[in-house]
Amino acid sequence: MKYYNSIIDTIGDTPLVKLNKVTKGIKGTILAKVEYFNPGQSVKDRIAIRMIEDAEKAGLIKPGGTIIEGTSGNTGFGLALAAIGKGYKCIFTMADKQSKEKIDILRAVGAEVVVCPTNVEPDDPRSYYSVAKRLNREIPNSLYPNQYDNLSNTAAHYDTTGPEVWRDTDGKITHFAAGVGTGGTICGTAKYLKERNPNVITIGLDTYGSVFKKYKETGIFDEGEIYPYLTEGIGEDILPKNVDFDMIDLFIKVTDKDAAIMSRRLSREEGLFVGWSCGTAVHGALEYAREQLSEDDVMVILLPDHGTRYLAKIYNDTWMKDHGFLESREFATARDIIH
Ligand code: PMP
Repeated sequence: MKYYNSIIDTIGDTPLVKLNKVTKGIKGTILAKVEYFNPGQSVKDRIAIRMIEDAEKAGLIKPGGTIIEGTSGNTGFGLALAAIGKGYKCIFTMADKQSKEKIDILRAVGAEVVVCPTNVEPDDPRSYYSVAKRLNREIPNSLYPNQYDNLSNTAAHYDTTGPEVWRDTDGKITHFAAGVGTGGTICGTAKYLKERNPNVITIGLDTYGSVFKKYKETGIFDEGEIYPYLTEGIGEDILPKNVDFDMIDLFIKVTDKDAAIMSRRLSREEGLFVGWSCGTAVHGALEYAREQLSEDDVMVILLPDHGTRYLAKIYNDTWMKDHGFLESREFATARDIIH
């Protein structure tokens, strides 16, 4: 009989899939590492289980405990799945700007969700950060994993994502590209790959409105770089401990619009129904590849999550048009195809 002992055992070992259409005119082999094959449909399952197991080993949580995190999406879902397997309760705090679907998804897998006001400063006692920290103080045997500064995040990718990419490319990988949020994905994977071959070039994808690119290039934390943007999961207004700038050779910024359009192209042209930051990663990485890659190069681009969470946004033509992301001609064409 071939079966897994629990859903947790299905995390990782995601496939590499060659991109064939969106890469027209680009030299080299471009492979996508498709993380929606994880049971929680995102790369975050890898860190969720690792953060919990490291905490167990350190005696920070005992059987029957409660996991508390301020999260709106993928990490919460990953933590909820891991918690089911391990018999923990989950409480997630979320800002009230988040869609009802996200709250419903977390509740569907048994988590308790505390909705907090969006328009307050992070250190206001009502913010979702503060409420998570307070619950962690008040609830006995509770764990606050804090994916931003918890180095189990990077370690998960050093131990799983990196070796998978190296193995599946037979060590032929020359470039690795991934979006940067907490930094765990790119830094953990990069560390493993660079230990095997120091010539592997790592490319971090950033958004406009985020501090990373400028910080890497100048060493200056420039608050002028910070402004609101729409793409979810990448870019930051802080420097998380999981971002090790020595592991990221260069950053490329991608706009919300270019990312959204590339996600839609991946869905329609490659059959990869992926999330918004996947468009960021592919758009930015291909911009680099177009200029820099030669025939023998092998680039791996990590695609963090699935498209379902973005149905009401980038996969909705009216939403796209309202945000100026779809030209009216393109909009008409899309409609014509549907009818
Ligand atoms: N894309 C999405 C959709 C994410 O949820 C995340 C995680 N914040 C990332 C990209 C970036 O990954 P990391 O946090 O490992 O840098």
